[in-house]
Amino acid sequence: MKPFVSEGFSYGDKIVIQCPFCDLDYHKIIRVGTELDNEYGDEAEIYKGTSLVIERNTGERRSALRIDLQGECGHSWSLILQQHKGVIAIFARELKTSRK
Ligand SMILES: [Zn+2]
Repeated sequence: MKPFVSEGFSYGDKIVIQCPFCDLDYHKIIRVGTELDNEYGDEAEIYKGTSLVIERNTGERRSALRIDLQGECGHSWSLILQQHKGVIAIFARELKTSRK
């Protein structure tokens, strides 16, 4: 999957995300939740401010913050902040509800 930080579009000093499939910059947020693994997630917790819990076999001990996005291009994907020990990885994953 391609990077999801736009290099061609700027919004002041902010980073703009782009679709990891087709590079389009325009999205809407469709849901936010905590993603956790019930099998391996012995240190998993529901993040404050999120009420939606998405159970997924991530193989991670700790929870992830997940933001589901829908692009005007028709692609749907998740922006995930996954805690792993002391670091937080940021990555994208396709949502299976994608129209393309
Ligand atoms: Zn797209």
